[in-house]
Amino acid sequence: MGLLDDVIVNAKSAADAVGKRATQFVDVSKLRISAADLNNEISKRFESLGRAAYEAKKTDNDASDLTAESVKAIDELYEQLDAVNAQLAAAREKMICKNCGQENAQDAVYCSRCGHKLSDN
Ligand SMILES: [Zn+2]
Repeated sequence: MGLLDDVIVNAKSAADAVGKRATQFVDVSKLRISAADLNNEISKRFESLGRAAYEAKKTDNDASDLTAESVKAIDELYEQLDAVNAQLAAAREKMICKNCGQENAQDAVYCSRCGHKLSDN
């Protein structure tokens, strides 16, 4: 392989690495936004559940159907939030060096122990 080929290969793998990292960054940001949205939605549901319970008590109405519905909706939102949090945890997972097994930060390029290039993993 000639020098020019080396340059092309290096440029390509650098571009790949940057692309990969940019994608991860966007995903984590999106996940954080989804988690925040879900938390907001859950708070809203709790608020309306509380208001419904209050109104029902005031007017002597039975709110159990409404309550059951709200609890189901909140549980579903909690399940979604769990899924988003699990994805966030996975995104934060450490990179394991293939060469020596050292745990490195997810955005590390080289292994902190042996210097192995982590994007080759
Ligand atoms: Zn290593």
